[in-house]
Amino acid sequence: MPVRKIITLGNPILRQKAQPVSKITKSEQRLIDDLFETMEEYQGVGLAAPQIAVPKRIFVARWEDEAFAIINPVVEWRSKEMVKDMEGCLSMPGVQAKVNRHLKIRVRGLDRNGKLFILEPEGWLARIFQHEIDHLDGILIIDRSDELFWVKRELNKDGKEKTLFIPTTKSEITEAFQRRKGIVRI
Ligand code: ZN
Repeated sequence: MPVRKIITLGNPILRQKAQPVSKITKSEQRLIDDLFETMEEYQGVGLAAPQIAVPKRIFVARWEDEAFAIINPVVEWRSKEMVKDMEGCLSMPGVQAKVNRHLKIRVRGLDRNGKLFILEPEGWLARIFQHEIDHLDGILIIDRSDELFWVKRELNKDGKEKTLFIPTTKSEITEAFQRRKGIVRI
């Protein structure tokens, strides 16, 4: 199966704690391929299995030409230093949040062949990893921040595109996605 459907806020799978993978088989490897294909299709930099409705502890990420697929990730250490920056989420299109993350972390996990490895991502890669590992625990950016925005793109009078950040709240976002789910498309 190639590109999969990304589930959005309101789907209960996004709020579940994903299950550890006990055995890596062809099916987990296919899942990783699908996660990569889906992430590329939606131009994301990270995607966790629960986002395609598979509640397993697996995520993929791509940053500066490096690709990562991590099974059963465990954060072993977090830097005291934090950084705040804007994040989006493929499961919440149109929403961005200013999220405080650890500048650096140490992550232990298994690669797609079951080999144990340890990584110490820093900066944006550390941010992506923390965002995706949160997905495995049912945590979303709207839980981590109260600086939330709707992102709207508009055309100026001179035809140039501008981006608007409209402040919003967790309950407004939750309700908006609930309403969207209720729309019957025929
Ligand atoms: Zn996300």
